[in-house]
Amino acid sequence: MKTVVFTDLDGTLLDFQNYSYQTAEPSVHQLGQQEIPVVFCSSKTKAEQEYYRSALKNADPFIVENGSAVFIPSGYFSFSVADQLSAQYNVVAEDDFEVVILGETVATVRQGIEQGREEANIHLFGYADLSLKEIQEITHLEEDFAQRAATRNFSETLLKGDKSGETFRRFQDLLYSKGLSCVSGGKFHTVMGQGSDKGKAVDVLTQLFTQEFGEVHTIGLGDSANDLPLLQVVDTGYLVQKPDETWLTTDNENIKKVAGVGPEGWVKVAQSLIAV
Ligand SMILES: [Mg+2]
Repeated sequence: MKTVVFTDLDGTLLDFQNYSYQTAEPSVHQLGQQEIPVVFCSSKTKAEQEYYRSALKNADPFIVENGSAVFIPSGYFSFSVADQLSAQYNVVAEDDFEVVILGETVATVRQGIEQGREEANIHLFGYADLSLKEIQEITHLEEDFAQRAATRNFSETLLKGDKSGETFRRFQDLLYSKGLSCVSGGKFHTVMGQGSDKGKAVDVLTQLFTQEFGEVHTIGLGDSANDLPLLQVVDTGYLVQKPDETWLTTDNENIKKVAGVGPEGWVKVAQSLIAV
């Protein structure tokens, strides 16, 4: 049976603090050698994920902006993704990819945020509101990394402002009433269309992998609230530890907890999948 790995990036495959892929890199290569696909499934943008795909020599499909779109390299499957899915989904060709679009446009998302902020009288700021310099100060990303993070098509990340009190909860309710959702990815919250989450995107890809390989066994890895939809739809979902060595609280007992912070936990799961 074909095993397919769906993985979050920040705080899971990548180090929570410095976004390093060094710890996971050898295991990513070993999975590649065994022809086990490693599908990135992250709030990160296409531009950001392409950087990590290139650095890790990963040529598998990937899921961007928290499930908003699925990018499949042209010719990756033996069939046309458009033929397979265009009755159900919006499938477009972009560069060397077939793209299944599940989310809203970034313009719709930003309009919802603007209205929600005004109605809730809350001061919150995303990439579109901040200068590159401010983005770098908040995210500690270098300029080209910050630029890639700000190149968004389907979602916005709330980088600055209070996200703990009653006013924020009211803002979240307002977004919800506008057809948007607002989910925590660990450090920041992402706002996007309600029609998309990581779980739905993983379902779409699992359908395609199943079409190609027959039966597949899906593995999911994550660390935060926005990973729960992903961990719930895979056959076996794993939570890695947060930097304080605790796990995200969940009442889903099927989700396994790995002892290991971020990439340390990731490597343990990867190694359990690699045949000796
Ligand atoms: Mg994460």
